[in-house]
Amino acid sequence: MISEKMKKAVGGNSVIRAMFEEGKRLSDIYGAENVFDFSIGNPNVEPPATIKKAILEILDEESPNKIHGYMNNSGYEDVREAIAQDINKKHGLDLTFKNIVMTVGAAGGLSIIFKTILNPEDEVITFSPYFSEYRNYVSDNGGKLVIVPTHMGTFELDLVALEAAITPRTKAIIINNPNNPTGVIYKEDIIKGLAELLTKKSEELNTCIFIISDEPYRELVYDDIKIPYMLNYYKNAFIGYSYSKSLSLPGERIGYVAFSNEMDDVDDVVQGLNIATRSIGYVNAPSLFQRVIAKCLDSEVDVSIYKKNRDLLYNHLISIGFECTKPEGAFYLFVKALIPDDTAFAAAAKKYNLLIVPGSAFGCPGYFRLAYCTSYAKIEKSLDAWTKLAKEFIK
Ligand code: PLP
Repeated sequence: MISEKMKKAVGGNSVIRAMFEEGKRLSDIYGAENVFDFSIGNPNVEPPATIKKAILEILDEESPNKIHGYMNNSGYEDVREAIAQDINKKHGLDLTFKNIVMTVGAAGGLSIIFKTILNPEDEVITFSPYFSEYRNYVSDNGGKLVIVPTHMGTFELDLVALEAAITPRTKAIIINNPNNPTGVIYKEDIIKGLAELLTKKSEELNTCIFIISDEPYRELVYDDIKIPYMLNYYKNAFIGYSYSKSLSLPGERIGYVAFSNEMDDVDDVVQGLNIATRSIGYVNAPSLFQRVIAKCLDSEVDVSIYKKNRDLLYNHLISIGFECTKPEGAFYLFVKALIPDDTAFAAAAKKYNLLIVPGSAFGCPGYFRLAYCTSYAKIEKSLDAWTKLAKEFIK
């Protein structure tokens, strides 16, 4: 009874979600404490206490019709203005509420961007390994996702390969900084290089190629590394931001899209984004959480918890013979599988109750992803299982 397009989507449904379900099944058999589920990026660090306080204050102090009512499709103007000022303070820009559209998480933001900019068969380029949901966001809005590999091992962007992949149909490049699944951060030199290349190619092809910087992990950074802000480097750029990871609120579905007034045809873009919220069917971002965010712009989660997890797991895996680039941000490790077949390797790991996602799910076979946003105690308990798994393959 369902459409052919949806049948295809059901067939290729997320491997990550499937692993998550498998974790629940194994927990029923072996007990949750004996299953080491590294499959899904669901933050284990608690949201800051300011979130609960803000919710209670808003419910106590504000008019119920304001809290729960419809508003402009872009979101409340005062909330958007507060976010714009926060961005200006951090990145030296002069945005106003007009440059911010509140969204249903990063997923909602990326979807309305693609709905606004894509014509049928337009191409969107991303770099592998990549967040697999990009395929849905692009194809649901009529586009075609084109994959360019990163430099294998370091997972840095390959701008030479990108240039070769750009065609007159290229409408946008989407990058994710810090990156899921590798944890790599693209620094200023590469961001500048990307902006210069796309300025050159846009002129050459007499078109506008957008950069979309997907940044749900922007605040999850270790070792004092600075992440460049794309609006400072390229006029036709969108930032897709989300509070799902930065404030551990993935179920609340709150984020925003930011862009600058320098963007080509910016007024049309704004109108397009607003119409897209309605045609996608979410209409506006959750009203209560828009107001909560405005009160919590200075709040943060305790990133040192993730850093401790990263260090424990990374150091152990390296010590027993795994190869992995040390992640600088987000909460994932992208590790080379001990055999070329990453799916077979994930199956082998399951024998030790280790749930991992094969790299193929990110367009990068031969690797696997671990989400270390789980408890330190759980990671400690899993170390023995990792050692046993490695011994099976390293003689
Ligand atoms: N982009 C990337 C790279 C992600 O990892 C995720 C979620 O895991 C999203 C977008 C979607 O984020 P949200 O839950 O805020 O929609």
